[in-house]
Amino acid sequence: MRQPALPTILLAIMPELPEVETVCRGLAPHLEGRTLVQVLQRRANLRVPFPDGFCERLTGRRVESVRRRAKYILVHLDDGTVLIAHLGMSGRMIITPERPAAWGAHDHVVLETDAGTVVTFNDARRFGLMDLAMAETLAEHPLLRALGPEPLGNAFSGPVLAARLAGRMTSIKAALLDQSVVAGLGNIYVSEALFLARLSPTRIAATVSGAKAERLAAAIRAVLERAIAAGGSSLRDYRQASGELGYFQHQFSVYDREGAPCPGCSCDVAKTGGVRRIVQAGRSTFYCPQRQR
Ligand SMILES: [Zn+2]
Repeated sequence: MRQPALPTILLAIMPELPEVETVCRGLAPHLEGRTLVQVLQRRANLRVPFPDGFCERLTGRRVESVRRRAKYILVHLDDGTVLIAHLGMSGRMIITPERPAAWGAHDHVVLETDAGTVVTFNDARRFGLMDLAMAETLAEHPLLRALGPEPLGNAFSGPVLAARLAGRMTSIKAALLDQSVVAGLGNIYVSEALFLARLSPTRIAATVSGAKAERLAAAIRAVLERAIAAGGSSLRDYRQASGELGYFQHQFSVYDREGAPCPGCSCDVAKTGGVRRIVQAGRSTFYCPQRQR
């Protein structure tokens, strides 16, 4: 398969799985092993109300780990409490070595550790959310219980994906956006994975089995891992920069590249029209009709 050089695009996009993974990796060294000495909640709700006793249940607890499940950040605490956070459309985690002189209008939650470090959850559009759960019943939490396999987990494979697609008469694009099929995939990485797997986004999901499902599972893993690697570079840069986690430069093959030359074919754009954009269930899909069948 040709592996062409990709253009670099900087987008103010909704955080997808790689952004959330990058946020978790950025938070971990500042939170793990630290005690939350002060927790501030600066409004009553985000997308949903905060749970009762939100600040009290977090204050004084030591953070054991920061993990990701789908697009949820899971902060495990020493008494079994788990803080579940979702960045929504515009959420950011900002790390500062001390309290800022003044809070911003969109600084909604503040976690201060015994090292003096302050983690601020900032969300202008307030589609994000925070909730509390207990570790032993975490898998049954309403936000998490219907989620399919983690695409970067050991349990995800071609046969597992094929089994979840079997009998589904929707498009493969729509099936991959269904969080019960595979967890955490969004619009961007579905386009990118289908391109890499050379599968048309309009194909019926149930027809993706055998070698096609193997190719797609591998492609999903590859596009996510490549984006996470880019996020990792942004974390290294970030240490000298603003302290804002979660947004970084991406390299996309087809996403948001309507009319551009397909990076997988040597076809003539004047004849083929290049990367095509279609709308499926109200969302843009980008693909190459020559390459993806
Ligand atoms: Zn092409």
